[in-house]
Amino acid sequence: MKQYEMNTVRPEQTLQFAEKLARSLQPGDVIALEGDLGAGKTTFTKGLARGLDIKRVVNSPTFTIIKEYHGTLPLYHMDVYRVGDASEDLGFDEYFEGEGVTVVEWAHLIEEQLPAEKLTVFLYHEKLEERKIVLVPNGKRYEQLCKEVFS
Ligand code: ADP
Ligand code: MG
Repeated sequence: MKQYEMNTVRPEQTLQFAEKLARSLQPGDVIALEGDLGAGKTTFTKGLARGLDIKRVVNSPTFTIIKEYHGTLPLYHMDVYRVGDASEDLGFDEYFEGEGVTVVEWAHLIEEQLPAEKLTVFLYHEKLEERKIVLVPNGKRYEQLCKEVFS
């Protein structure tokens, strides 16, 4: 499977990359974020918010699971860390099929509930301020998105 990689050496670069990606997003797009604590999942989400012209401050929705923001598109920000390995249906479909973009931190914890077609973004903590970002597109829409962002 084709994947796309890049390294960032400062938080601002991760923000800028996510901002660029966000400008190519469409209603119904789903982004699954994977990476350890502190890898940069929330930082990446803040960059997406910037690219969608969201003015409110985005922080981790640890206690609410889902936070909704309004910009050029709605952004549904989920952090499912506390949901654990939930197999029960928590109604996420309404978001995935909604008019906005969904971004899910710790996405593999709800893997069975995620759409098969999505963009998975892996963040790896390399050094103090260096991160490797790996994008894995699943489905034609997301292959196209990656090509656009990396062109
Ligand atoms: P997560 O949501 O994955 O737990 P956060 O985004 O909350 O991670 O935290 C990442 C931390 O790492 C932030 O304090 C951020 O400033 C810092 N950081 C350092 N370098 C980078 C980088 N290149 N990209 C993203 N975050 C970075
Ligand atoms: Mg986080």
